[in-house]
Amino acid sequence: MKAGKTRSPKKEDFTPAEQRAARASRIEVSEADPYGWIAHSESDDKQNYHLFRDPASKRLVCTCADFIFRGDANPAYECKHVSAVLKYIGRRYLEQDYNPLRQQQQHAA
Ligand SMILES: [Zn+2]
Repeated sequence: MKAGKTRSPKKEDFTPAEQRAARASRIEVSEADPYGWIAHSESDDKQNYHLFRDPASKRLVCTCADFIFRGDANPAYECKHVSAVLKYIGRRYLEQDYNPLRQQQQHAA
């Protein structure tokens, strides 16, 4: 990567959600055994978080402290690992499962 830019936006220019999204790009995601996903943070080599879909809410659940504490107060809260896994699932879906015909049918119905 080139470092030739003279002006780069400051951290304060972004909303907390945007800052989380930026951090999510540094998280590696892989499929977990037997289910769910593992989020691996590049900045913190020792930490792996297990994510899975909660059967009741159908939302992703993360095992990190950020998610547990803030998710408790706000059920819609998404930690950086949830954001990263959602991105990963979205890419996989586009590559493997996305079917434009089925989408048309859903719109027609
Ligand atoms: Zn998390």
